[in-house]
Amino acid sequence: MSKLRFRVVETAFQKKALNVIDPSERPSDYFGMYVFNKAKMFKYLPDKVYQQLMDAMENGTPLKREIADAVAAGMKKWALEMGATHYTHWFHPLTEGTAEKHDAFVEHDGKGGMVEEFSGKLLIQQEPDASSFPNGGIRNTFEARGYSAWDPSSPAFIVGDTLCIPTIFIAYTGESLDYKAPLLKALQAVNKAAVDVCHYFNPEVKKVVAFLGWEQEYFLVDEGLYGARPDLLLTGRTLMGHESSKNQQLEDHYFGAIPTRVTAFMKDLEIESLKLGIPVKTRHNEVAPNQFELAPIYEECNLANDHNLLVMALMRKIARQHGFRVLLHEKPFKGINGSGKHNNWSLGTDTGILLMGPGKTSEENLRFVTFIVNVLMAVYRHNGLLKASISSATNAHRLGANEAPPAIISSFLGKQLSQVLDHLAESTKDDLISLSGKQGMKLDIPQIPELLIDNTDRNRTSPFAFTGNRFEFRAVGSEANCASAMIALNAAVAEQLIIFKKEVDALIEKGEPKLSAILEIIRKDIIECKAIHFDGNGYSEEWKAEALKRGLDCETSVPIIFDSYLTESSIKMFESTGVMTKVELEARNEVKWETYTKKIQIEARVLGDLALNHINPVATKFQSELIDNVYKMKELFPSDKANKLSAKNLEIIEDIATRTIFIKEKVDEMIEIRKVANKIVDEREKAIAYHDKIVPMLEEIRYHIDKLELVVDDQLWPLPKYRELLFIR
Ligand code: ADP
Ligand code: MG
Repeated sequence: MSKLRFRVVETAFQKKALNVIDPSERPSDYFGMYVFNKAKMFKYLPDKVYQQLMDAMENGTPLKREIADAVAAGMKKWALEMGATHYTHWFHPLTEGTAEKHDAFVEHDGKGGMVEEFSGKLLIQQEPDASSFPNGGIRNTFEARGYSAWDPSSPAFIVGDTLCIPTIFIAYTGESLDYKAPLLKALQAVNKAAVDVCHYFNPEVKKVVAFLGWEQEYFLVDEGLYGARPDLLLTGRTLMGHESSKNQQLEDHYFGAIPTRVTAFMKDLEIESLKLGIPVKTRHNEVAPNQFELAPIYEECNLANDHNLLVMALMRKIARQHGFRVLLHEKPFKGINGSGKHNNWSLGTDTGILLMGPGKTSEENLRFVTFIVNVLMAVYRHNGLLKASISSATNAHRLGANEAPPAIISSFLGKQLSQVLDHLAESTKDDLISLSGKQGMKLDIPQIPELLIDNTDRNRTSPFAFTGNRFEFRAVGSEANCASAMIALNAAVAEQLIIFKKEVDALIEKGEPKLSAILEIIRKDIIECKAIHFDGNGYSEEWKAEALKRGLDCETSVPIIFDSYLTESSIKMFESTGVMTKVELEARNEVKWETYTKKIQIEARVLGDLALNHINPVATKFQSELIDNVYKMKELFPSDKANKLSAKNLEIIEDIATRTIFIKEKVDEMIEIRKVANKIVDEREKAIAYHDKIVPMLEEIRYHIDKLELVVDDQLWPLPKYRELLFIR
């Protein structure tokens, strides 16, 4: 890099970075300052209203209209004091990200002036003109309209000058058009089913909460360089770019010192997150250059998910203030690690028990094993569905593509837990009866308490790993709405817990003591779901073959993976738990296929434009310079010598010709194939056509562009290269 070819935004931000700490302000001073949290509810609401709202928040009791009016009045008072001028229903349509339409608080006062207005009606329900949100045909524009309705379990907050009210988004016919409504239903289902199973051990449990702790990975690139990459701008990833000579091979970025400019960004991001009540805790460099991670302390799943969406929005905003752009795409750069969003998930009771963690007594440990085995069963039964829940056009680059782990869901348990399960599986009925004691009261599984010792037994290659007191669903993509994975997982676990309870109760009815009945079903389940348990290297070729033999879902084509939502067992699971109906599942799949097609279509167009308008002309220009040189050599030297001296240049000239012709022909061919595919009416078939035909062409074209990047004069090359994009100085 003799000279910088692109403008890099720097010094001002580097200077800022040196002085980011204000010792007079501590996180505990400003945490949650922009949130209408319990403390503010208590302050701004009359006592009776506060009590009823708490009941609605904690137990889902519907809010009466008068109460809603009183809540709205208190909320408005607080928001106006905070300087807010607008309010919005904030919801999660079936796109990535969130939607909002801002309305000012003002209304005519009837005397020629204005008054700040915000009623309970406006708080509780709105009808956003949302006909252009994806709905998979559930709600066409002529039919019933959709409305958004307040979710009191997630508190309102202020961003900028706007009071944001978290809402669900549903059609008048009742079907959900968003991520939040089915998530709330799935959380309710798992709550109920888990409470029932808890009662075998702890009759006092009233509520089980699903927890989510997400770890958000992301890339930062300099804004100036980003602006010079139309592919990043329009698709979120680089569609071309030769590997940098140095990337992550030295493993020097992971947990390395964070560049000052990046620290300044992180600090601002953390402060803004904390003000919004998001308990951010961990920040570090990730494996790839320019890749970082942010993680909060885990929270109740619905709130945690709202917070993740907020953090992604904050990241985008704050990155710009620091001269960066944040890349949330799962695979912005070929050849280096992609970004995920590990979903740490567990269940906990209102009495403070973490159900995925081992306990101190044998009975506690039987409860622990019960929940672990039920999770494994759920993951086993629905492994194809769980894969579908994290699949997308973008995450496909991380999962199932050439350089990524295979698209197979399995679960890592670690040595100790594996031993316990193996031991139980091998036990005879008599062993189990003696395990559960003569009176059916005592229980002795000697290995279990040792689980306390070691939860550092980690396997980074497992998509669904047990990590001591939780499962870590690692296959989730960095750009995804966690709700997709959380809906599938919580609903599947709910279904499994219901089945489990039925089976155990049936044995108890036949006169079997409770503990041995539980043990017997657990043993049956451990054997049944053995195929899902895999502690080996999940990235290896052998595993692909082994997984296929075990009957796990090994499909790699994303449009076909989506079929898992519509299998008989998935529909039964979602309907029986009350999470989604067949109509909703079908509509959502339409949206998924359509989104898939559109994403690939955009990539194909951008790549075609870049190839023909940027790359080929520049390559040809350089080629002409070489041709010119060859002619001039002939003037300077006798022809024998000139030929000899020009031999290498002639090779390059030919190489460029071959590649530019290939690129032009492929782009033309790709356009023709798209025309045919676009005529396909069925969304699934169309997505399959894009997957089977267009995706491989993107790679073929890229291959030749990346080769050209190596020969064409650096000063002519029109796009910032990986080595420029990937190393923030
Ligand atoms: P890792 O070693 O996987 O990077 P971290 O310490 O960064 O682990 O934690 C990852 C996330 O898991 C954090 O958000 C943390 O709060 C969360 N977490 C910890 N325990 C639980 C739990 N029992 N349930 C859900 N999430 C949890
Ligand atoms: Mg982790």
